[in-house]
Amino acid sequence: MVTTATIEEKKIWSILETVTDPEVPVLTVTDLGIIRDVKINDEEIEVVITPTYTGCPAMDMIAANIKMELLSNGYSKIKITSVLSPAWTTDWMSEEGKRKLKQYGIAPPDKRFSIPKDGVECPQCHSSNTKLVSEFGSTACKALYQCNDCKEPFDYFKCH
Ligand SMILES: [Zn+2]
Repeated sequence: MVTTATIEEKKIWSILETVTDPEVPVLTVTDLGIIRDVKINDEEIEVVITPTYTGCPAMDMIAANIKMELLSNGYSKIKITSVLSPAWTTDWMSEEGKRKLKQYGIAPPDKRFSIPKDGVECPQCHSSNTKLVSEFGSTACKALYQCNDCKEPFDYFKCH
């Protein structure tokens, strides 16, 4: 985050707050914490993003959505730069983002980076008596779990 943001930068951040993740439409790119920086070089706007998941196909779509949103707000020269290091961690996701994810029925990522075999909290009944069904859920970025108590399957947002 930029602390000495100019009015223009603040405006761009507020536009970015409206760009959502194509996979989880309740989450914005700022909820995900993937926007590393916004730079204004003369007329050109540069948005620096860090992918949540290497090889995640949604990232190309997110970059395109950011571009489109800025274009429709009157910006014409936009550059999206991907920075892979330091790698995105779930700590960058906002608390609000985690809460929205849960409401959407997806278990938010926890601090462990690997895919937990069990113990992920069920978004339906909040039981942690759950088990991993598949490391690949509805998309490559999610793992599929099932709750042993309410028997509901659910996605876990898997991020590296
Ligand atoms: Zn459950």
